[in-house]
Amino acid sequence: VPMPTRPRPRVVIAGAGFGGINATKALVDGPFEITLIDRDNYHGFWPLLYQVATAGLGPDDIAHPVRGMFNDVTNVHVRLGTVSGVDFERKLVAVEGEADIGYDYLIIAVGSATSDFGIPGVDQHAFALKTLPDAVRLRNHVLMTFERADACPELVDEGILTIVLAGGGSTGVEMAGALSELISRNLASDFPHLDITRARVVVVEMADHLIGAFSPSSQANALETLKRMGVEVRLNSAIAQVAAGCVELKDGSTIPCGTVVWTAGIRANPLADQLGLEQGRGGAVKVGEDLSLPGHPEVFVLGDLALASDRHGDPYPQLAQVAIQGGRHAARCIRRRMAGKATKPFRYHNHGIMATIGRRSAVAELPGGIKLRGTAGWISWLAVHLVFLVGFHNRMIVLAKWGWNYLTWDRASRVILDEGSKTPTGQARA
Ligand SMILES: Cc1cc2nc3c(=O)[nH]c(=O)nc-3n(C[C@H](O)[C@H](O)[C@H](O)COP(=O)(O)OP(=O)(O)OC[C@H]3O[C@@H](n4cnc5c(N)ncnc54)[C@H](O)[C@@H]3O)c2cc1C
Repeated sequence: VPMPTRPRPRVVIAGAGFGGINATKALVDGPFEITLIDRDNYHGFWPLLYQVATAGLGPDDIAHPVRGMFNDVTNVHVRLGTVSGVDFERKLVAVEGEADIGYDYLIIAVGSATSDFGIPGVDQHAFALKTLPDAVRLRNHVLMTFERADACPELVDEGILTIVLAGGGSTGVEMAGALSELISRNLASDFPHLDITRARVVVVEMADHLIGAFSPSSQANALETLKRMGVEVRLNSAIAQVAAGCVELKDGSTIPCGTVVWTAGIRANPLADQLGLEQGRGGAVKVGEDLSLPGHPEVFVLGDLALASDRHGDPYPQLAQVAIQGGRHAARCIRRRMAGKATKPFRYHNHGIMATIGRRSAVAELPGGIKLRGTAGWISWLAVHLVFLVGFHNRMIVLAKWGWNYLTWDRASRVILDEGSKTPTGQARA
């Protein structure tokens, strides 16, 4: 058991996402000096990111200032900074442009990044949806395509109003449903001189089904619901290349379009490649059963960054609940180590998965084989997301906006914020 050289052990937590925040909360009442470092000054609630991209919510509705979460305690030191490396021997965390930070215990939870799988053109021509700036950029761009089409209707023939969603996972499906509602309800009235029936939302998915994590009946339900909403779904279709103004499929066909959203792949945060640790699928860091690093019992890696497995050796999915529970587990392990006790293996408890498709339509699969569809699925989706959204203020605002949207169909955040909107995110951050 490492004996702390100071009265209170220093715990450094890299990343104030789902994992980092929950680890901090679980340690805050203990005898620790905690330094919580994030490159942003907010905690982002990514499951609602697509609502920012589709003008249903504003960016700060789903973000909560990290300092605001811990301003009533004195042992949490919030630092704005980008972690660039770790010296595991000297127990130092490197932060870009700042002095190294020493630790007795370290939790690394910096999450994941978009992966283009090496497909040409994705980086230059497709929009990512991983960060708040990504979502705002995408919203700006989609709104700009309608502005440009309105000013120059010939562009409609070139496909400017076609939005291609690359990847039919939960994010692709949720985006498709929300975009279709944004277009048919809001943009149709905002642009009365545009033939809105020419706007297309196309989901391109390699597999023969949507939302791979769900059961076949939920997959079929999602497909049917999207089709009913007018979304085109191309299954068994792989993207070969993304170019300016079109997507090329492996079968040789092309889809002319004004927007491509890349939701098809994620990989570990690039910091994983800097750490010199053993990596597995998607660059994720291989961890021991208790989420600590082999050979470094004082270091824990968790959430999307970690390759952690269940008792059968199957890797845990990259989901918010895995990160939340992982953060709490790492905190428990630190307390046990301090008390001279052995740590326990991390076991993720699946509370269910859900995806919303549109108004009064969602699929939810809960433990015990319970499946909810349509309105029941949607209400449970709303409730769960409100409960887990961080911050009372955010919950109230989101509840009010959803209520307003439900009554009026108004996706009110249809605001173009900056000039950067005209170019896709070649430089998308990790
Ligand atoms: C669009 C989208 C929709 C999603 N929908 C769902 C859903 O419906 N349900 C679900 O369960 N999961 C969903 N997820 C996945 C879920 O958000 C992740 O599994 C979860 O966020 C992982 O938690 P984490 O703590 O590992 O990483 P994150 O929550 O991403 O937190 C990582 C933190 O690290 C910070 N960071 C990154 N790099 C650095 C650095 N170098 N230095 C300092 N700080 C850094 C980031 O700013 C961030 O705050 C979704 C993800 C996305 C992108």
